[in-house]
Amino acid sequence: MDLIPSFSVDHTKIIPGIFESRVDTLGAETVTTFDVRLKRPNREPEIAPAAMHTMEHVVATYLRNHPEWKDKLIYWGPMGCLTGFYIIVKGRPAAADMYPIILEAFRYMSEYEGEVPGATPENCGKYLMHDLPMAKWEAERYVDYLTHADKSRIFEYPKTERLKVNGGREFFDS
Ligand SMILES: [Zn+2]
Repeated sequence: MDLIPSFSVDHTKIIPGIFESRVDTLGAETVTTFDVRLKRPNREPEIAPAAMHTMEHVVATYLRNHPEWKDKLIYWGPMGCLTGFYIIVKGRPAAADMYPIILEAFRYMSEYEGEVPGATPENCGKYLMHDLPMAKWEAERYVDYLTHADKSRIFEYPKTERLKVNGGREFFDS
């Protein structure tokens, strides 16, 4: 079996940033998926589920109300490995084009005060599992990282050979 595209990058080489994950054509429309990576996979602790959940709610609400982005946003949601988020947008912007809105959204998250939007039993599948202070802390850390990071490294995955099976090793490697 081939790995799906988002698994086929060598995760031991990934650093935080904003990376194009896949481009899909649906009829006449193109949609682009980006990995919004906050943590180095397998090298630093993942984001706690409750903080992840709060960031999902607050950033989604921000993007879905944003005058420029609300009509372009298809999806915003957490990665199962808890090291980042996926954002799917209409069209084919480059990862660097996503930088201003991602920075803006996480800055908003880092300064957010008040009730977490949608954190009610009517609107959420686990409304008690939220952690606003940790979500703000993680967002502030990511904003700081994105602001100071080497821009030549945070929009493109390292050019390693793409993996095919079993972490790059053949299944029957002896
Ligand atoms: Zn929820």
